[in-house]
Amino acid sequence: MKRNDFRYEYEVEERRRKNELYALRTLVIDLIPEPYRSAIIPPHTDNKEESIRWFYNTIEKVIELAEAEATPTDEVIQRFTGWNDTKRTICPLCKAETGQGFIFQNKSYSVGFTLPLGFRRHLSGHGSSEGCEVMEVVRNLKREIHQEKWPNEIIPF
Ligand SMILES: [Zn+2]
Repeated sequence: MKRNDFRYEYEVEERRRKNELYALRTLVIDLIPEPYRSAIIPPHTDNKEESIRWFYNTIEKVIELAEAEATPTDEVIQRFTGWNDTKRTICPLCKAETGQGFIFQNKSYSVGFTLPLGFRRHLSGHGSSEGCEVMEVVRNLKREIHQEKWPNEIIPF
């Protein structure tokens, strides 16, 4: 086997993996229920500035949708934690909680992320909270779409 044969095989394998990754990323997004799915589908037409703006606008849109569905903090949680001024949400995209759930009178309570601050940190991956795995997929898909069109540009998010 000549050296070029290895190179050709490597390129074929690389392309196969890239196509598979693209399919998996779009599948993750397809599995998200509406209205969130429509909110997170990355457009294919944005330039660099629009791509950056799109990502942060998408985070705000997801927060807005979650806020519309959130109910005030459960009375038992308020008594248990002293929190009484904020709504919380479990991530509607990846189903992550904060990890601060607790059991009270044999019932399990999930406390979720504070709205909007804690949830924004989760979606953007900033701050100390664990980042959202679905938003990470969305972010990487957006980068990939952008680099297909502008191979020399890197989107800083
Ligand atoms: Zn999440």
